[in-house]
Amino acid sequence: MIGLVDANNFYVSCERVFQPKLEGRPVGVMSNNDGCVIARSTELKALDIPMGTPAFKLEGLRQRGEIHLLSSNYELYGDMSARLAQLLRDACPAVAPYSIDEMFVYLEGFTTAQCAALGQRLRQLIRRHLGLPVCVGLAPTHTLAKLANHLAKQDPRYQGVCLLNGQDHTTEALLKRTAVGSIWGVGHRLAERLAIGGVTTAWDLRESDKKQLRKGFSVVLARTALELRGTPCMEMNALEQPRQRIMTSRSFGQPTGVFAEVHNALRRHAQRSAEKLREQQSLARAVMVFLNTNRHRRDQLQYFPQALIPLPSPSDDTRVILDAVRQGLEQIYRPRYRFMKAGVMLLDLVDAEQHQLSLLHPPTRNRHPFLMATVDQINQRMGQGTISFGMTNAPAAWQLRCAHRSDRYTTRWDELMKVGTHPGATQACTSRTEPLP
Ligand SMILES: [Mg+2]
Repeated sequence: MIGLVDANNFYVSCERVFQPKLEGRPVGVMSNNDGCVIARSTELKALDIPMGTPAFKLEGLRQRGEIHLLSSNYELYGDMSARLAQLLRDACPAVAPYSIDEMFVYLEGFTTAQCAALGQRLRQLIRRHLGLPVCVGLAPTHTLAKLANHLAKQDPRYQGVCLLNGQDHTTEALLKRTAVGSIWGVGHRLAERLAIGGVTTAWDLRESDKKQLRKGFSVVLARTALELRGTPCMEMNALEQPRQRIMTSRSFGQPTGVFAEVHNALRRHAQRSAEKLREQQSLARAVMVFLNTNRHRRDQLQYFPQALIPLPSPSDDTRVILDAVRQGLEQIYRPRYRFMKAGVMLLDLVDAEQHQLSLLHPPTRNRHPFLMATVDQINQRMGQGTISFGMTNAPAAWQLRCAHRSDRYTTRWDELMKVGTHPGATQACTSRTEPLP
């Protein structure tokens, strides 16, 4: 069985851990420079405030105290994500982070009952140790696990854990109720094309002829159909559409602890990720760097660090991403470990065209669209990596606007949460701005 553990409204939930007064209130987290809303609590969604709403349009609501808007605190989210991954590694045989708040766990040899029980236990464990609410989807394949997770989030009767075994009547009934467009990897346009052929539900897709799917659409779609039957046939890397995040990672031929070697690998991944980003015409708002030691080598020191670096403004410029990767690596690299794998993830993607049309976010650095386009063209024609970027300059000192950022409670000594017992304190926890005895 495969489990997908996904945090609910992750950025907002991270904020609520340290500011319990935000519980039950409409809360939004803004992009860098406080430009627009990139994460919403359930209560904010209920007010019909869409993703991407420019922050200035909400200023009135904010000033009247009807909603709370926070600057993004990527350092906090990145650290909470690393803690979540570590907690899962301690509790499950194998873990693969899929995005900042979604992680697959692999539960080979577990019975259905054991899986369901573990799902509930993970929820409690994560709630108790991190204070984060999560939902768990369990199924024999990645695609079904993703769907199960979606159902666990939608329907409170599941109590946060939904298990689909892929074969029984429950699975059948659910697939018949699920629109094909809400299946992982089936985008809006693909759903429209499928509908022409009478395929409108997940069940229709599952029952479709595999050969015709392959011929008329793609191998990936044929695999998705198989996955819906409960036959695992997708690797993690194939599960990227629609791409909300882009990941490039690979194991080293030989484990290495040498900074320059790790850095080189990451630089390659960064360049490849940036290419994919431009291919799909997106911009990234943040870059995550991660390293893994070999978890099977119990005799060696284990270390699975990750660092999340926000970009000054959304970007698809390889040089900006390389800068961020270097910063990230410098934060997490420790010389005494031998690393097995390194990866780069681009997060919080935004549509390049839409972004450029909005005049709200003037580019903070001279963009070089022709340079990037030329590099991509040469690499497409002459083979990947024909042209690549040499060492980049030290990161510029970006002045970010983040007037409403919460403290970085888990990564900065001077921003730790303080507990006060002064008379008149109404809460055990007081923020650091309140007087201490
Ligand atoms: Mg989530």
